[in-house]
Amino acid sequence: MDAFDYADHFLFQLAKKYDPGRPLQIELHPGLHCDRYQCPHCFGHGQRPLAGRVLSAEEIGRALDDVAAFDPLIVVSGVTTEPLTHPEAAAVIRAVRSRGLRLGLYTKGLRFGRECAEAVLEGDAECFVTFSLDAFDRETYQRLHGIQPGGAGRGEGTAGEDYFDKVVANIRAFYAEKQRRGSRTQIRIAILLFRENCGPDLEAAIAPYTEIADLVRLAVAQDRNDGGRVGNLPGSHTALLGHLAARFAGHPKIRVLTGTAEPARDRAFRRCYTQRFQVTIDKAGNLYPCPQVAVAPYRHLSFANLRAAPLAELLRSSQRLGLFEKDVDSDMRCRICDRKDEAINRALCKLDPTPFAAG
Ligand code: SF4
Repeated sequence: MDAFDYADHFLFQLAKKYDPGRPLQIELHPGLHCDRYQCPHCFGHGQRPLAGRVLSAEEIGRALDDVAAFDPLIVVSGVTTEPLTHPEAAAVIRAVRSRGLRLGLYTKGLRFGRECAEAVLEGDAECFVTFSLDAFDRETYQRLHGIQPGGAGRGEGTAGEDYFDKVVANIRAFYAEKQRRGSRTQIRIAILLFRENCGPDLEAAIAPYTEIADLVRLAVAQDRNDGGRVGNLPGSHTALLGHLAARFAGHPKIRVLTGTAEPARDRAFRRCYTQRFQVTIDKAGNLYPCPQVAVAPYRHLSFANLRAAPLAELLRSSQRLGLFEKDVDSDMRCRICDRKDEAINRALCKLDPTPFAAG
């Protein structure tokens, strides 16, 4: 590599020498389904995780013990499922918090009741909970998330048309309890912008949310991993985000993610560098190189199952290291990175025109 830029050269060396057995991030997808949500903008819309016996909270805890010494960020999320539909959702959160690991939880919030709130607030390590809300009233919420009406008494127990009220009540109660305890946990509300929810009075619509969260984040939805884009994105995305960023500049609780309007779908990188620093574990213990591919159509990228060996061992397995050498298009068939992983792949590819080896 001809590196005339000292900073680039330093970053390249860091990435190249990084021990794949010390993941920076472990993403858990413990959810079984998505209740009555069928969001058209879901990243893995219509796809299912692989079937299989669901990991218990105890099994998840044992896997975390294997890597806790490396202090990875534990993200609890789902590409096509709601994480809190796991039968022991609060115990899964506790498995992370009781080990003093950093936690990032992404949830719709419908099932985020007292038990989950207690589990989050019991820990001291850095923690954020992001509620994907995307709407300011119950009708828009139901429409944007494709929620089937009815269903009261089944599953989680709330009728589809009442989801919005339940979610907002859960966030409000969580924020109040967090304030009461003086917890450093950060509560975030994520709003994806669509034609239906970004009228001229956006500031007034957002205001109540700044009373029940530490941060309200505005962005535009990414293209789904099947390449599909919903038809109700607001027009002139880039201009809109720029306008909102200027309007809310300096606001202590509102952030606008300005770079979210268009997917890059970069074709320059031939190897996936991102996978060296992370692992995703689905509800049945299947291990994947990134969250975007942790669904059945990408089963060919699952390099092991958590029940086969200790996690620390699987992270250094030849199956995993072999993926580092694969071509993203012809071998992995997964040029569907989200904007974060794509940004990392692009940046490292620029530093390394000849992909570095796994060793
Ligand atoms: S989708 Fe992107 S980040 Fe995920 S494995 Fe493929 S190349 Fe890597």
